[in-house]
Amino acid sequence: MAEWPVTRPITFAPFAMHKDDYRHQGMRKRLVDTLIAKGIEDREVLAAIGQVPRHLFIDDTAFLEMAYQDIAFPIGCGQTISQPYTVAFQSAILAVRPGMKVLEIGTGSGYQTAVLAKLGCKIFSIERQRPLYLQTKERLARSGVKANLYHGDGYAGLPREAPFDRILVTCGAPFVPQGLTSQLKLGGRLVIPVGEGDEQRMLRITRSSEMDVSTEDLGAFRFVPMLQDKA
Ligand code: SAH
Repeated sequence: MAEWPVTRPITFAPFAMHKDDYRHQGMRKRLVDTLIAKGIEDREVLAAIGQVPRHLFIDDTAFLEMAYQDIAFPIGCGQTISQPYTVAFQSAILAVRPGMKVLEIGTGSGYQTAVLAKLGCKIFSIERQRPLYLQTKERLARSGVKANLYHGDGYAGLPREAPFDRILVTCGAPFVPQGLTSQLKLGGRLVIPVGEGDEQRMLRITRSSEMDVSTEDLGAFRFVPMLQDKA
């Protein structure tokens, strides 16, 4: 009588964690359709979201099935991976072009970082929490995403790499840090959710001259707070 091989492969999870297969691709396609239905029009941004495997930015298998729903959820250290709609909205209003030098504040899971890298940006990203910085650095390297990651304080920006074409803040700031506007090129843009409490206003600030900036308010959002003195 034939015996079962002792080491036959068994898969418990509905899909493996570190691979990207047709099921993930199908779920991404549906996510892109959802974003279009919610009003995202930027074709490049939609294409990038259609290509970046969001499930690889989530560590907990319990959340795997939710990776392609349009929701935010926890990534550790009390932080969240941003909702795909928010990532798409911020990426669209940032209006990047390939080759632009972009500073991101709040690396978090690295998902937004990966989307910007897919859009062809040269990306620099700062994370305040060291465990997240270390984890995401490894994850992005493993996924082949090219990005320059820093553990530091986003309020200070990154003077040694300034000026930037674009700066994107992915946490809710109590005010617009002066250090960030001063690190914009002329004509450069800062996208930043501003406001204390539950809700922030999404501001798009354009540096119009050496001394002047213009500010547009693009609606209400909810972000985790931009930390002020936590190392
Ligand atoms: N872009 C991320 C969003 C993560 S949530 C993603 O796609 O997953 C916002 C992140 O901002 C958190 O990881 C938080 O730790 C970080 N953060 C908060 N205050 C900060 C600060 N002062 N400087 C840099 N990062 C900060």
